[in-house]
Amino acid sequence: MSDSSFIPGTLAGLHLDMPGSRPKEDARAWNVYMTELREGDLDGKRFAYLAEMGEPTVLHIEDLAEAELYNGGLQAVDVTEPESVLRFVNKFGIPSSAMYQGTMRLEWFRRRNETNIRTYVPILTDEVNPINTHLIDLDSPESLEEELDGHLRGNMPHVLSERAREIEMDNPNVVGAVSLAEVVQTIRALQLATALPAAFSYFSRNGGTGEDLIEYMKTPRYVAQPGPAYFLHADGPIVNGCRLDTFERCIERSEQLRDQVAHARKRGINVEAGFSIALAEGLWKCANSALRFLSESDYSYRSTAFLWEDDNASDPNPFARLLGKNRDQLPDFSAFGSVGEAIIEQYLIVFTDEKPFRRCENCGRIFKKYREEGFWKNIRETRFCRRSCNVSFNQKNKPN
Ligand SMILES: [Zn+2]
Repeated sequence: MSDSSFIPGTLAGLHLDMPGSRPKEDARAWNVYMTELREGDLDGKRFAYLAEMGEPTVLHIEDLAEAELYNGGLQAVDVTEPESVLRFVNKFGIPSSAMYQGTMRLEWFRRRNETNIRTYVPILTDEVNPINTHLIDLDSPESLEEELDGHLRGNMPHVLSERAREIEMDNPNVVGAVSLAEVVQTIRALQLATALPAAFSYFSRNGGTGEDLIEYMKTPRYVAQPGPAYFLHADGPIVNGCRLDTFERCIERSEQLRDQVAHARKRGINVEAGFSIALAEGLWKCANSALRFLSESDYSYRSTAFLWEDDNASDPNPFARLLGKNRDQLPDFSAFGSVGEAIIEQYLIVFTDEKPFRRCENCGRIFKKYREEGFWKNIRETRFCRRSCNVSFNQKNKPN
């Protein structure tokens, strides 16, 4: 976990489990539709979903104007504002979930009316996730789960997407449908899973503390704030029961910690020093989980193998079992990806590059790749994260 450069209470010497390298294959192209918000119900409860309409525009990873979308457009989304989510989706397409076969289910639904495509049957049970490719569970620990509203718990975001597709099944004007909860969960998880390891890497290299990292993660200019704090909760003997935060804010929030602190102080223990170490370790665990989530998502997005391929084997009807091989085909799931896949590819390329993360001299953002640097260009070590930062820095520092 740490080496000789470890300095207690700081992040120095705490190493992240690096993802091996950039993905072997480039992100696939993906479809962007005009999308609108609709409401449906499941078991009498209302929920919101996004419905895709019209003809798609095809986007490729090279088309993205930002070299680090995770550090720009993605962090501009307020997941608690449906209009903000919709703006992102209408520009970049739906970031379907990698926690189940979200991209494949959506693609299958989009092509449900083509001839010879197997009938799409919505799955409204836990089996919506027949092959769980993730070891990372977005709902844990308990203190995080308590933050989540019902639509975001367990498989609910994915079941709601299936319900949305059931509602729109026979509507010829609707191409695709995904629950707002699925999009919110995916965007929010990506916002934090990308920002945290990058900032951890920067502060760890520069001898920063857990508090430094927390302050960065709490700055709206750098990281979107509204929504569940995925990857910011850890279970440890000192940091638990609330979102990882500074010492003052954690004792404000956790009664258990307040008691432990009071007791330790009576014994003359330096609680601030102990808290710093616990916070650094908690953040280290979270940053590693975040990287793992991204690697697993990358795998999940690209893996086109799944259970429905031979689902006639379990058909109770012997004729269906015998003749099942003659059924209609599934769509070619390897043809299209999603914006989620592209964001992760951009991120893994940047993260695994040997050049270190640095801070923009104008806005303080932690970054590696200049915003306007094209997808194929190598990373140059620039002082500013983007052209506009360069311009505004020069204006501020113009000699009078
Ligand atoms: Zn900047």
